[in-house]
Amino acid sequence: MPAKCKDRERIAASGNADVPSLPVGAIRGDLCFRCFSPLDDILKCSGCRRAYYCSEKCQKSDWKLVHKNHCKIFQTINQVEEEKYQRSRTWAEYRESLLFIIRIIRNAAPRDDNLRYIVQAQAYCTSCRRTVVQLATRKIVLNRCTKCRLVFSCADCSSTPEHPASICEIYQHFRRTENFRINFFEDTGKATPVTCTQFPRDTRKSLADATGWFDYYVKISDKPQIDGKFKPGFSSIEIDIDRNGSDREKDEAERMLMFLLCATDTLTMPLTIAQALEDIQWEKPHLNVHIVGATDRELVLLANFEELLHLIPSLRDLHITAIGPEIPGPSENDSFILSRQSLDCCPPCKSGGRERSISLYRGVYHDYCKDPKFERPDLVVLFNSRWVDGDDAKSHWEPTIKKLVADNVPALFTTYNSGEARNEQQRMKELGANFVIEVEENKWKGLVPTPEFIDEEYGMWYNNAYRYIIQGSK
Ligand SMILES: [Zn+2]
Ligand SMILES: [Zn+2]
Ligand SMILES: [Zn+2]
Ligand SMILES: [Zn+2]
Ligand SMILES: [Zn+2]
Repeated sequence: MPAKCKDRERIAASGNADVPSLPVGAIRGDLCFRCFSPLDDILKCSGCRRAYYCSEKCQKSDWKLVHKNHCKIFQTINQVEEEKYQRSRTWAEYRESLLFIIRIIRNAAPRDDNLRYIVQAQAYCTSCRRTVVQLATRKIVLNRCTKCRLVFSCADCSSTPEHPASICEIYQHFRRTENFRINFFEDTGKATPVTCTQFPRDTRKSLADATGWFDYYVKISDKPQIDGKFKPGFSSIEIDIDRNGSDREKDEAERMLMFLLCATDTLTMPLTIAQALEDIQWEKPHLNVHIVGATDRELVLLANFEELLHLIPSLRDLHITAIGPEIPGPSENDSFILSRQSLDCCPPCKSGGRERSISLYRGVYHDYCKDPKFERPDLVVLFNSRWVDGDDAKSHWEPTIKKLVADNVPALFTTYNSGEARNEQQRMKELGANFVIEVEENKWKGLVPTPEFIDEEYGMWYNNAYRYIIQGSK
């Protein structure tokens, strides 16, 4: 019986920010909103019909913790939906209606990302695009894809939802990662697997020589034991084990596969940095990296930045400064939340004289540059910043980007998808930036798919999917 998931808010409040968020599987009616266990008999909130539970107990505790703040707003939205959008809709029309409703939510609960996400990810018929609530009002059955369990068609339209096989496969894959995170959290108290190469390397192995993650784990890092156990694309365990292995061997291989697959989603940060350092031919004892637009998410996962110390033999001292308006911290007025503080290293690093430290600055980067404690970086990194497509592009990002170009420091950028990458490339060129590496797919992107519900139907994001490097202007 899941115990930690249902207690996730308390666990998060006690200082562990790495708890699983509400799964899409729950939002789409397959898992309990409170404990994340699979649903047989579905108990639905009768007020808004947008929250699902396995039991009255879960419903009651979820009401107290979360849903009492959501239910009224959902009811308002259901009403708007019913008045404005009754007929069948194209994807473009559905998208319009969703954007309209999101504006209402933003006004009602500006800070509640969770609430917005529940509506964004709602189930709907992919033929007529009436939503789960609209169909329930009309007592029309919503048929679920039996494979991915995330795509639907209503009984009026078709008995089986039509969607491309390739999409269904990615969704199935996504569901496996969601389930893995839930189980992993129950087992370990953490939602995200973090792993590093065990020992610092004596000689540098070039990331450019590896074909991708599997190659990295086997040849550059220290997990050669996975060779032959599962497919290099992390899609499934090898037929040989599947057919001839014992149940225990199969389970172990499957768990290892999911662990290493999900670990790419955090290792993507140090590896994307290590690759950039290779590209700009950086090889010195002291490394100072500025992570711009950082949130508590990056801070939670700082532990695996130690991978940089393990992969780069010349490196003795790694200093990271995390900068961003969302950096959490106790002091209200001071923007420097934390001046240089050393972090613990693994025993081999310590005995080899290697060190790690961190500083935290709450605020925008162009203000940080004026701070007396500003230290010039070797590399500036903006992970998935959405500096062109995001909400605060003009007000907040534009001055930061201009400052970076003017300062002539190497700056590494990543994006969630190709559309964002193209937009950023175009704007960079308008600003006269000099590209060291043009926009390209990032070999070290995270392999965990994240569905996205607004840009395109069945859209998919990957952590650090695309990358480019600039330095100065032309
Ligand atoms: Zn439950
Ligand atoms: Zn409700
Ligand atoms: Zn329909
Ligand atoms: Zn499917
Ligand atoms: Zn170490």
